Amino acid sequence: MLDPKTLSVALILILIIGCALHLVNWRMHPKSAGAKWWTIGLCVQTAGAITTVIANAGGDPSMVLIAATNFMALGGVVLLVYGTASFAARPLPLAIYAGLSAFIVIGTAWFAIIDPSVTMRLVMFGVVQFVCNTLILTRLGHIARRDGAMGVVVLAASLVTLVALMVVLVGWHLLTQPEITGLYDDSPVLVPTMLTLIACKTTMIFGYLLLSAGYSQAQLHRLALSDALTGLPNRRAFEEAVEQRLTSARKQDRLIALAIFDVDHFKQVNDIHGHDAGDAVLRHLGRVAAQAVRPLDFVARVGGEEFAVIFDVEDAAELVTAANRLRLAIEIDHPRVGENAVPTTVSVGAVLALSEPWLEFNRLYRAADQALYRAKATGRNRVVVGEVDAIELAA
Ligand code: GH3
Ligand code: MG
Ligand code: MG
Repeated sequence: MLDPKTLSVALILILIIGCALHLVNWRMHPKSAGAKWWTIGLCVQTAGAITTVIANAGGDPSMVLIAATNFMALGGVVLLVYGTASFAARPLPLAIYAGLSAFIVIGTAWFAIIDPSVTMRLVMFGVVQFVCNTLILTRLGHIARRDGAMGVVVLAASLVTLVALMVVLVGWHLLTQPEITGLYDDSPVLVPTMLTLIACKTTMIFGYLLLSAGYSQAQLHRLALSDALTGLPNRRAFEEAVEQRLTSARKQDRLIALAIFDVDHFKQVNDIHGHDAGDAVLRHLGRVAAQAVRPLDFVARVGGEEFAVIFDVEDAAELVTAANRLRLAIEIDHPRVGENAVPTTVSVGAVLALSEPWLEFNRLYRAADQALYRAKATGRNRVVVGEVDAIELAA
């Protein structure tokens, strides 16, 4: 038969293993406030759980010890809230932490030492768990949007179950007012409570660990798709975006337009002002280009001094207008190197095509590159529009 004593030892073992896993997780994510505070919060809770078992082992627990165990168990939850809010980069007002801490300190001391009451301690437990877990849940939506939903789903499941468990326990206590003095009293709810707690805590530990893993994975994905110098999407991201647009354009029977623009005589900028100044010019260009396009357009840095854009346009005339707007924005907004303005122009090769099944990224890109070559050959600082099926329009 399952008995609460054995189950409480099992729970403590799980918590200790959880602390060890969280320590490893913290080492793997040394800069993550989440990993740090989840480890500290879980260690504090584990210390509370161990003290609870020790306090109840003799059968007649000291009330000061009981106050301390409740304080640690609930304090640990508040630390988990802090860790999750920091991890989500959505901090909570300090007043919330101050209020919760005051409630926990006064409540645990009051209902353990001054006016001991198992029921009131349980009510307090329920209230703090409810508030803290709800606060954590409010932060999970942002994390799911940023890093994906995997860890969030696991963690949310454990938090919701824990809150449900507290509601049932508190309700049962308030209705039946059982004569309970300690953890190992003969109570019909203790075994199911312990089993639910074991399930919740195990799930919760993995939920937090999955949040860290999800963050790392999303961060790597973001890095793999962005250009380190300008912060714009890189060539790989551009290729993915074009493939996506091709698929959606195919479904909607729409055109797809893309352009490559290349800085004119950029080698001279490096030669005259130095490589660092060249880098600054490229960063400036990236900013100007990102501001010059419309929200549904997509700009990327695809190579050294080459950028590419997907334009959301309906026809060739609109494409020429959009490409020229971008070219002019760059021509007007000179980057500065120290005191000096560095006049910068770009040549643009653009292409417009119906998204036929045979049309793939490489073909489109090559056509835009050929148009760019002609823009260079015919005098630079201009837009040339080509088409994949070789109908060409000069602008
Ligand atoms: P064109 O008008 O024909 O494009 O002439 P260009 O001088 O711009 O073209 P070219 O291909 O001869 O030179 C491109 C230069 O861009 C050479 C390379 O050193 C420089 N470059 C490429 N990537 C970077 C970078 O990340 N930073 C800096 N500072 N320079 C770069
Ligand atoms: Mg160039
Ligand atoms: Mg080039």
